[in-house]
Formats: sequence, C-alpha cells, structure tokens
Amino acid sequence: MSASGDDVRIGIHASISGELPNALREAAGLGCRTVQLFSRNPRGWEARALEVAEIRAFRRERERLGLDPVIIHAPYLLNLAAATPQVRERSIRALRQEIKRALQLGADYLVLHPGSTLGRSIEDGIRACARAIRRAVWDAAVDSLCLLLENTAGQGHQIGWRFEHLAALLEEVGELPVGICLDTAHAFAAGYDLATEAGFAEMLAQLRATVGLERVRVLHLNDTRVACGGRVDRHWHIGEGNLGAEALRRILTSAAFRGCPFILETPRKTVEDDRRNLARVRAWVAPNG
Ligand SMILES: [Zn+2]
Ligand SMILES: [Zn+2]
Repeated sequence: MSASGDDVRIGIHASISGELPNALREAAGLGCRTVQLFSRNPRGWEARALEVAEIRAFRRERERLGLDPVIIHAPYLLNLAAATPQVRERSIRALRQEIKRALQLGADYLVLHPGSTLGRSIEDGIRACARAIRRAVWDAAVDSLCLLLENTAGQGHQIGWRFEHLAALLEEVGELPVGICLDTAHAFAAGYDLATEAGFAEMLAQLRATVGLERVRVLHLNDTRVACGGRVDRHWHIGEGNLGAEALRRILTSAAFRGCPFILETPRKTVEDDRRNLARVRAWVAPNG
C-alpha cells in the first residue's frame, strides 16, 4: 500500500528574515501546504516578546494560505540534557518561552532536540531531559500544542540517536502531549540503514518496537552526505546524497507514515534549491506519476 496524490503534505523549513509571516508566504509561494519555521533567531538565547499585532498577522496569514500543520523548530542552543545545572536552567526557561510563543502563534507542533550530555551517562541525560520538559510545560496549557522530540545524528555527546533513547524519554514524560519527529538524515547517520529496502523495513520494525509508529507525527525528509553510522549531521539535496532518490521515495510513499507532514530541511543558497528539491519529491506523489 502506498500514499499518492493529495494526501501527502510537503513543506519546507522557511526562513524568517524580516517578519514571521514571511516564512508562511515563502512556503505557500513554493506551493507548500505545510511549513516549519523558527519563531526567533535560533542561535541566540534571548528573544523579544511577540507583539499582539504580529501574532494576529501571523494567524491571519496562516489561515489565508491554508498551511497545516504549522511547525516551530526550537532554537539550537537549548540543551535540556546538559550536565551543567546553569545550562539546563537556561534551557528550561528558553523552552518555556518557546512553548509560549508557539501557543501564541497557534502552531501545531514544537520540534526540539533532546540535547547532549557530557561527562555522564546517556541514562542520566535522558532523565535530565525528561525532567526539564516536565518542568517547562508544567504551567503552560499545552493542549493545542504537541511537543516533538527529534531523533539526532548522534554527533558528539548527543542523546536521542537511538529509538530506545526516544522511547525512554516518552516513557519518562508520561501523560504530556509529546511525540516524535523523525529525521531521515539523522536516522541514517545514527546507523539505521534506510537506504535499502531491507534496512528501511528493519528501521520500521525497530520504530514499532520502541516508540511506536503512532507517536511519529512529523518527518524531516532530508538526504545526507554522511555514510550510514557516520554520526555527523550534514543534510544534502534530495536524491544527491547517500540516501538517494529511491530510498527517500520509499519513505515518502510508505503507508507507515501516511498522514504525516514531510518537511524538507535541505541546503538553500537560493530559492531555486528549494524549487528543485520540492519538484523531485512532488514527482513521487503526483497522480499517475
Ligand atoms: Zn532539528
Ligand atoms: Zn531535522
């Protein structure tokens, strides 16, 4: 069974230069039906609060352009698994802020990386991360928002590159609305050989046995320049990397991820890069295509 035609939602990670609604316009202008964006500079700790007019404009534009779902990616500096209490506290504050912004903007999902742990065990990192998430969402009414933990490439001391780590995190956060965002480039770098049909089937089996397929809510569809198990995060253009067109098509059209939006986070020097990558992916789900 495979997906086809209109039921596959494809989007990009759009840039927010200028004002936030620009990201929505950029994605819609490229024919996307869903979008991911940062709500702020992803490399800084501090963000100025959103203004009411800004929030209204964003919500109106999203409605007008029919983008669904809208996904916010949390800043890169967050490290909820940090061994240093100061870094962890700062990360919790920043996550609380980010949840607030996502709710104000009416986003559906907030994607975050589990973090990295230095000088202590993965188990301690997982516990610290889960505790941090629980604290960050403690007071927020997150009902309309779902947090998504993204699998990592396993670079350096990152946690979350094995599905078992993610399953443990889900278990520890308990009842909170938390799911998984699956990044194909990260999974491959982490050692899941989804370049082959057998490897993809094996990855699905491991997903089912750990986090469960139903917890996977969003996919990041990226090719990679890294070899399987290379443990480095290096996204690449669709069909031009080590995953390749055949493997990415298999993932996109798999019944396992039916209903999930697919976001491209491929390199962009100019908008032509996005056009080219989107065209390749769309051809795989085009009616009669
Ligand atoms: Zn990410
Ligand atoms: Zn990603």
